[in-house]
Amino acid sequence: MVSGRIDLHTHSRVSDGTDTPAELVAAAARSGLEVVALTDHDTTDGWAEALAAGEGSPVTVVPGLEISTHRPNGAGAHLLAYWPDPGHEPLQALLSRIVGGRRTRLPEMLERLRELGSAITIDDVRAASAKNAVIGRPHVADALVALGEVQDRDEAFSRYLSAGRPGYVDRFAPDLARTVSLIRDAGGVTVLAHPWGRVRSVAGRIGEDELRTLIAAGLSGIEVDHQDHDAEQRRELAGLADRLGLIPTGSSDYHGTGKIDHPLGVNTTSAESFERLRTAAATAAAAAAAGDGEADVVGVPGERP
Ligand code: AMP
Ligand code: MN
Ligand code: MN
Ligand code: MN
Repeated sequence: MVSGRIDLHTHSRVSDGTDTPAELVAAAARSGLEVVALTDHDTTDGWAEALAAGEGSPVTVVPGLEISTHRPNGAGAHLLAYWPDPGHEPLQALLSRIVGGRRTRLPEMLERLRELGSAITIDDVRAASAKNAVIGRPHVADALVALGEVQDRDEAFSRYLSAGRPGYVDRFAPDLARTVSLIRDAGGVTVLAHPWGRVRSVAGRIGEDELRTLIAAGLSGIEVDHQDHDAEQRRELAGLADRLGLIPTGSSDYHGTGKIDHPLGVNTTSAESFERLRTAAATAAAAAAAGDGEADVVGVPGERP
């Protein structure tokens, strides 16, 4: 059993963090973490570098990702996935489709920003992101900062980029429950990220019925301790996890210097929860190896209607 501190949600420059995967693992060691999961948005591209960096360090690296999905009500939901087989074809097909959607919305987003008076071009966004990074709104925000048009990422989101603001453009996101099943078929385990974070109304929050549907699809856990949840939400979510048999986790959602108030280890996952996740993943991997579940994988799941 792991005895040290465990942080299961972090981002590198392969998505919208600011550290390389190797720098992130070194930072985790300096922060005294024993386990860190790399969970870049919609990509497994940082795994090889992070796992190699973990080899020579006291830190155990868990290969993970944070997948952008949508709920039946149309709201976005972020799904953390750990240890899926990166060679699972339906998984890579899904990720390609999500990353493709990010790519096609970018010119449209920049066009809107220019209509609003910005001087931003694709070159500014390229200059603000690492080569081959999965581009997201944070990179657009960084480009606006570099142009001197906003102070920081927060201002870029609140003025332009958040849903409902004039620079926002929607993109493809697969159905949450179907993505949960797909990860299980790929031999991995899923945890719903910050389930009540950044939700505008209490009515819009994911509740017990929807969670039960997700559990039936294979969901293993929910992120309880996250900076977007206040103390009362954390208490309520911990109670919900307990009642539903979901594994509670806690993590930083570290983005390097890209997100203030999210330092490595600011929230952590218990050794007990980590063991439960490992067991669930081992069970899924064994079932995948035995060929279970493959019958219901048909192409890319969950197109938005
Ligand atoms: P995207 O992946 O393009 O949909 O952008 C969403 C990402 O933007 C999230 O994963 C967060 O990391 C980041 N984000 C959302 N809101 C803010 C904010 N107010 N300030 C900084 N980063 C944010
Ligand atoms: Mn992010
Ligand atoms: Mn997220
Ligand atoms: Mn995240």
